Amino acid sequence: MSNLPNGAENDSRAPWNEYDNLCRYCDADVLYDFFIEEVSKDLGVQMMEFDSEEDYLEFLHEQAEFNLSEHGLCKQCAKEEYYDDDDDL
Ligand SMILES: [Zn+2]
Repeated sequence: MSNLPNGAENDSRAPWNEYDNLCRYCDADVLYDFFIEEVSKDLGVQMMEFDSEEDYLEFLHEQAEFNLSEHGLCKQCAKEEYYDDDDDL
């Protein structure tokens, strides 16, 4: 009787959601690589605007670090961040 599509909201395994589940502490390496790739993809064309490849790579590094610092925490780390050294169990 119902013609509403089922599972429209069950899209949590979409590739773009995968990274939202990563934590900037626990998955720092993965995220860093991901951000470097993202930034270089976004800004690769602008490489000629830098004096040297070194400057460019440093820029990528800074952007990746910044993105990383803005990234969310997993439940565990968020708990530690908010409650500091509050030991529960
Ligand atoms: Zn974590």
